[in-house]
Amino acid sequence: HAKEQGRDQFQFFTSQMNQDVSQRLEMENALRQGIQRGELRLVYQPQYCIRTRRLRGAEALVRWQHPEQGLVRPDFFIPLAEETGLILSLGEWVLKEACRQGQVWIQQGMPDIDLAVNVSALQFRQGLVAQVREALRSTGYPADKLVLEMTESTLMADASQAVRILKELKALGVWISLDDFGTGYSSLAYLKRFPLDKLKIDRAFISDLPHDQDDVAITSSIVGLAHNLNLLTVAEGVETSDQLAFLADQGCQLAQGYLLDKPLWPEEMARRLQDACQSSKR
Ligand code: C2E
Ligand code: MG
Ligand code: MG
Ligand code: MG
Repeated sequence: HAKEQGRDQFQFFTSQMNQDVSQRLEMENALRQGIQRGELRLVYQPQYCIRTRRLRGAEALVRWQHPEQGLVRPDFFIPLAEETGLILSLGEWVLKEACRQGQVWIQQGMPDIDLAVNVSALQFRQGLVAQVREALRSTGYPADKLVLEMTESTLMADASQAVRILKELKALGVWISLDDFGTGYSSLAYLKRFPLDKLKIDRAFISDLPHDQDDVAITSSIVGLAHNLNLLTVAEGVETSDQLAFLADQGCQLAQGYLLDKPLWPEEMARRLQDACQSSKR
């Protein structure tokens, strides 16, 4: 076992690509058990309107509270979950838990925000519409407060099938956000055919703003493109006030990042919501 061999979390979880079959199987079983035993948690990273500085939404991000390894970040287990199909039950839990929590906040009279949930490629193609419908039905969470984040590669893998699935999702009333935009390859023709609502500019283009002239050109082009296609833009990974000022100048609407807030435990997120409630009454 990992602990007995003295490997730390980093070694245990990063070397999965090089692990032999038995170690991979061990991790797969640990994750399957973890899901069954209720070891998954959601943290919420706030998203703010850049112009008004008001809290507008939050992205739900999954964590694995491993009994021995501690809190494990998704980069260490999402790839394995995708390869083994465990992402289907993991993704179903995430959707339902975000909607359950969102509905609790609504019933507590918290201000209106949108909750964004990440969706993986396999989950998108295998029954996402039914999963979303069921999560909304069983929790009572309003569809128009749910945003589904997916990447270009998820959609472009089979673009015409993706158009059909997206239309079914839109018919449920949820919002669609294209995550990590700019890092994958999207055909501009499809960008027009996909019924999207938001583009999320990948952190890679934000980190060297406003000094790097290439990143300046790329982000201003993305914001312009989004504007012309009638999409909202969300900047992810905003860490400095210079970055935020640049994005404000460009007309980017929403921002998320360590400058504004780190991913928060539900109780901390509830406090942010309460603060937002107070400041809107003032
Ligand atoms: P993502 O959807 O692009 O999420 C943004 C990631 O950037 C999060 O990492 C977040 O904590 C991090 N981040 C936010 N602001 C900053 C910042 O200012 N600076 C820096 N350096 N990082 C920032 P996290 O939570 O580790 O998630 C990593 C990825 O794992 C996510 O990328 C997403 O692709 C995936 N993921 C997370 N939760 C889920 C889930 O429930 N389902 C699926 N399928 N994938 C998930
Ligand atoms: Mg995301
Ligand atoms: Mg992202
Ligand atoms: Mg990203």
